[in-house]
Amino acid sequence: MTLNVDMIPLYVGGSDHVGEATPIHRENPARTSDRVGSVCAANPSQVGAAVEAAQAASRAWSDLGIDGRVRALAEAWTFGDDERAALSTILTMELGKVLADTRGELDYGIAYVDFAMTNAAATLANQVVNDAAGRFLFRSVPYGVVAAIIPWNAPLNISSTVVGPALVAGNTVVVKPSPLAPLAVTTYLRAIARHLPAGVLNVVNGDADVGEALVSDPRVGKIAFTGSTGVGRQILRSAAAGVTPSLLELGGNDAAVVLDDVELSDELVARLVFGSFLTAGQVCMAIKRLFVHESIFTDVVERYREVARRVLQIGDPMDPRVTIGPLVSKRQVEMVSKFVESAAAEGASVIELGTKVDDGFDLAGGYYLRPSLVLNATRDSQIVVEEQFGPTVPILPFSDVDDAVEAANNSDYGLCASVWTADEERAFEIGCRLEAGTVFVNTHNRSGMALQAPFGGMKLSGYGREYGTAGVLEFAQSQTISRVERSRAGADIEAGRRYAV
Ligand code: NAD
Repeated sequence: MTLNVDMIPLYVGGSDHVGEATPIHRENPARTSDRVGSVCAANPSQVGAAVEAAQAASRAWSDLGIDGRVRALAEAWTFGDDERAALSTILTMELGKVLADTRGELDYGIAYVDFAMTNAAATLANQVVNDAAGRFLFRSVPYGVVAAIIPWNAPLNISSTVVGPALVAGNTVVVKPSPLAPLAVTTYLRAIARHLPAGVLNVVNGDADVGEALVSDPRVGKIAFTGSTGVGRQILRSAAAGVTPSLLELGGNDAAVVLDDVELSDELVARLVFGSFLTAGQVCMAIKRLFVHESIFTDVVERYREVARRVLQIGDPMDPRVTIGPLVSKRQVEMVSKFVESAAAEGASVIELGTKVDDGFDLAGGYYLRPSLVLNATRDSQIVVEEQFGPTVPILPFSDVDDAVEAANNSDYGLCASVWTADEERAFEIGCRLEAGTVFVNTHNRSGMALQAPFGGMKLSGYGREYGTAGVLEFAQSQTISRVERSRAGADIEAGRRYAV
């Protein structure tokens, strides 16, 4: 694996290509005067060439069969400790996410690809039924070319959970990373693609126009998009022309509901804090609304501040002591600051959280924003209603469980939610009333993830599922070959005639 991130080429049809559009340069958000590296960017005709290469490779890849594909992928998707460390370092430098988290997202992504491979035969196997009703063959067949559009906030993980199962299911793939974090993911995918037949996995970099050209290509059989709800709507418009099926993993505004019987240990409060502040809050499934029972509200605020002071260590994301790095861009800092300022202007009080790791590191040289807890915001204020996607969280009281459920469900989004209580039965019961694709109990965010648990949104958080066997079936369509017994009541020719009149 080459770790030269100085002008990484496109990877199309089994070879490197120089981009014909203006290259993308990536600065280090922790030290904006430093350039980390660059990638070549594609023009629309290079996007077309990538789709063509993927289409040309499609039949042979599918014909390899499940075992053949899993064998090839197991060999290609092998990363030693040094390579993993190098990839996570690149991602930390281009994104500002702390080292332990970039390593964690990579390891978890690879673990899911292993899960998809291990379960491939059972998940995708043909079913033959030969009984009194007739003879049937139920098959799982690939879509052909999958277009994968990746966001910046967890590119090593998300590319794994999309590309891995798509390839396992017999599709070929063209990936477009985000221009805000293209270096590590392109390096990662090129290292895998090099061990696969030409055209099976292709990577084209670029901005929205490149993504648009990719998803509107009529040869694309399925779109897998992860990103904002606004762009998700544009993707659907592009998909409409070809009625192209789409997996949409979109934004979220997750609620955490802390019940009056919760046991407030330091460990539990730290989980609550990281539920919001992992990756400086730039996680789709971060706690973005924190609802706490009124009887324990003051106590929770106090404990939260105290624990956050110790566990939210702000500084250089390459420093292993640091848990909060910078945001990805100036635009992101401005956007999140506006949410906080507007809440303050409406009368909310903003409590700063965390501690700067005292090592002379200059936070002013990067895109840092002090983590904060916002008190006394109203339930209809912008910071409660919209996805803030940064290191801040409003904390609001509720009176009883019905009130909490109503407040949590009062959102256009439905990605994840969580219930915090000493009573697990109560948590599962309340969880079933929450409108979210996943409800965690006494945790939230990545620490609540399980490889076998399907993950995806309800409402404006999208549809389709990643993870679990559902995440593999997402990339396979079912086909039926059937011969129905003529003698079966209701299914014979006469019955057909009866239905026709
Ligand atoms: P974004 O929607 O701005 O961009 C995502 C990707 O789409 C990028 O690669 C971008 O270049 C591309 N793109 C932009 N316009 C396009 C178009 N018209 N056609 C095709 N591609 C286009 O999102 P972002 O800022 O990169 O990521 C943050 C958002 O992603 C947040 O809303 C977050 O909640 C969401 N997200 C969701 C999940 C999930 O699993 N539900 C996971 C991670 C991030």
